[in-house]
Amino acid sequence: MQSATPAAPPIAPLPAPVRPDPVRDRWAAPMRLAIAEAALAPATGDVPVGALVLGPGGEVIGRGHNEREAVGDPTAHAEVVAIRQAAEQVGEWRLSGCTLVVTLEPCTMCAGAIVLSRIDRVVYGALDEKAGAAGSLFDVMRDRRLNHRPEVIWGVLADECGEQLREFFDTHR
Ligand SMILES: [Zn+2]
Repeated sequence: MQSATPAAPPIAPLPAPVRPDPVRDRWAAPMRLAIAEAALAPATGDVPVGALVLGPGGEVIGRGHNEREAVGDPTAHAEVVAIRQAAEQVGEWRLSGCTLVVTLEPCTMCAGAIVLSRIDRVVYGALDEKAGAAGSLFDVMRDRRLNHRPEVIWGVLADECGEQLREFFDTHR
């Protein structure tokens, strides 16, 4: 007995191949923590940006989210909050050997604070084409005229970081 051959299911468009990116992939886990930190900001009407400072061994020694509205402080960007906490934890202002992970490209102030803290590496997610000082509008941290220049790794989970911001602006502005 011959049964009718069932019609083949339509072929769904295949997802784009995921290419391994060893430089960025190794920072995905801490970036997820920074995204979780950023998610705390909207409770006070603050733009969701989150940052972590990792010690030389990869341990979290500082974390912060944007809290400008919460504390009424124009300098209370996620990076500055995290850097202050890390310096307190370490017991001095020099954060040599540390890595700062942040969901959005740092602004000029934060790029300046990063250089001054001697942080050795900056990992960020979304580009900030309007105010970014780590490659977009300025490139403060890699300016050859400066003595201390951290390594910069950009675009880690950039889509997720950008989406978190877009969602905030869609609902709050
Ligand atoms: Zn900033």
